[in-house]
Amino acid sequence: MTTAARAACIVGWPVGHSRSPLIHNYWLKHYGIAGEYRREAVPPDEFAAFVKNLAARGYAGANVTLPHKEAALKLSQPDDRAEAVGAANTLWLDGASLRSTNTDVEGFLDNLDACAPGWDGDLRTAVVLGAGGAARAVVYGLVLRGASRIVIVNRTLDRAAELRRRFGERVHVVGWDKRDEPLADAELLVNATTLGMEHQGGLTLDIAQLPGHALVADLVYVPLLTPLLTAAKARGLRTADGLGMLLHQAVRGFTLWFGKKPDVTEELRALVETDLTASAGAPGGIS
Ligand code: NAP
Repeated sequence: MTTAARAACIVGWPVGHSRSPLIHNYWLKHYGIAGEYRREAVPPDEFAAFVKNLAARGYAGANVTLPHKEAALKLSQPDDRAEAVGAANTLWLDGASLRSTNTDVEGFLDNLDACAPGWDGDLRTAVVLGAGGAARAVVYGLVLRGASRIVIVNRTLDRAAELRRRFGERVHVVGWDKRDEPLADAELLVNATTLGMEHQGGLTLDIAQLPGHALVADLVYVPLLTPLLTAAKARGLRTADGLGMLLHQAVRGFTLWFGKKPDVTEELRALVETDLTASAGAPGGIS
């Protein structure tokens, strides 16, 4: 690297599976920016020390993945998004202070804007499957866009109830065994569970209940075309996939660390798709 080069990294434990190096190093090369994006495998008991020494290690910032997202929040000055979601996935140095945000919020929203412009124009009811970290980012994004009714369907009811406490009365909780019931009123259905992901269970859902103008988003991106998205496309519904969200969530970190807002292009998407292709193939179950 030249003296002007900057560096960023993804910190996780493990971290080998992450596609973030592929995305950020593509952008660095594409825009001719002297810099590097690396993987850093850091165990939980070393995370605080690692983050404290980010600058000394030559980093302008970092992405944070499992299991460090909650710890990253506590060790930094979070923005409204990280605070609301309760987890940080992006760190940057702002002078002497370590700041954090959660870019899954804008990754989710920007991907929907790109796939289905105007999707939030008359958004009354959104159904979100799942109540984990990703679902929290989705729900916060939906609150920002003014969704008046957000139905959270989750296997563990307490976890869904915690989202209602966090985001207020527009959030309604439905048990997993009743997951087909709210679909008839949904303008938006989001799968924020791990179901449909390679090596996980299949998602069983009667999407025939969804109205014809509904938009279906899946956060899972291995496989790229999940059984849920396949079924939604077969019904002629609009869809947004998890890879789109992954690419859009990377934009803010790159902008903060390297000073250039990058574009999410077809060329970048094709590059990551090629990398994901070998992983395709997952259980079915959508009717
Ligand atoms: P998480 O915190 O572990 O939450 C997992 C969710 O899946 C929980 O709601 C869990 O329900 C539910 N679930 C798991 N197994 C289930 C089963 N057999 N039946 C019913 N529900 C089940 O995970 P996360 O971090 O939120 O991530 C969720 C998914 O989003 C993952 O596939 C992840 O890869 C994806 N994601 C994608 C992006 C992107 O950029 N595309 C970003 C973030 C996450 P319980 O609460 O009952 O356990």
